[in-house]
Amino acid sequence: MSRLLHAEKMYGVIGHPVGHSLSPLMHNDQFQHQSLPAFYHAFDVMPEYLGDALQGLKALGVSGFNVTVPHKIEVMQYLDGLDEEARLIGAVNTIVKEEKGWIGYNTDGDGYVQSLLSKVGSALPDSNILVIGAGGAARAVISALTGHKAEQVTITNRTFSKAEALQERMAERAAVCALPTQQAEKETPSFDIIINTTSVGMSPQTDRMPWPVDGLKPGCVVSDLIYNPLKTKWLQEAQKRGADILNGTGMFVGQGAIAFEKWTGIQPDTKRMHNVVMKQLGGN
Ligand code: NAP
Repeated sequence: MSRLLHAEKMYGVIGHPVGHSLSPLMHNDQFQHQSLPAFYHAFDVMPEYLGDALQGLKALGVSGFNVTVPHKIEVMQYLDGLDEEARLIGAVNTIVKEEKGWIGYNTDGDGYVQSLLSKVGSALPDSNILVIGAGGAARAVISALTGHKAEQVTITNRTFSKAEALQERMAERAAVCALPTQQAEKETPSFDIIINTTSVGMSPQTDRMPWPVDGLKPGCVVSDLIYNPLKTKWLQEAQKRGADILNGTGMFVGQGAIAFEKWTGIQPDTKRMHNVVMKQLGGN
């Protein structure tokens, strides 16, 4: 890890817990690679100290930071402004010190859609898409999908009322359709892209699957936001049945790359960021 030198700019991530975060590794490597005098640190901030932590970061002259679980919503009350996408999503994962003060952005959704576009390209607007889950990640993903002109988006969630609330929330931008799980399951063969935004299948409960793999449309894209494990059981089983699979590393790198550019004005080397993350996760 590089040493903090005088005149280096300071960035970081706040969360709780945050010790497992790969962001310091990814961003510090990129700062070095770009010869930028900057340093990125993970700050473990308990929810009851969030306001104090924000004051402290301001006082210390931090130039920008990421926000992760559980602070993505609560942090908004301490900011001086919100980007339009963050407002629609109702959560912030990136904060930038600008002339008007601290402005909140959400780069999760665009980070995800960039990685999805590498699979589906120009077919996105015409694809029939199912999103499983209605939490913060689902909000970001659906907002970015509709921002990229996806017109057929269905949401389903264990707690159906949250899927309905998300449908309402997105209505100002696009028509998305909330379906109860049983009904959506029957429509599995009609979906071109199925995206899991729930934590089902994440380590340590790696034997669980968020959606049945029988009846998948031939050649469909099956995508999991999870990257630990790199290939969830659901992705493994879907691949055996001919699906084109996508894990969550592209989203993680994508959201970080957009944040990096917002902070520094420099487009990072995303291939290098991806390699750093994959090496740490034990992948290729
Ligand atoms: P969240 O706001 O807590 O939402 C969790 C969602 O998962 C809810 O829809 C919840 O359903 C559902 N869920 C949880 N346990 C379930 C179960 N046993 N069965 C069915 N549904 C279940 O969390 P989040 O922030 O959206 O994160 C969700 C996932 O996305 C996590 O795995 C996270 O690691 C991943 N993620 C990845 C990236 C990336 O960079 N790759 C970025 C952000 C998030 P209910 O509403 O019914 O509770």
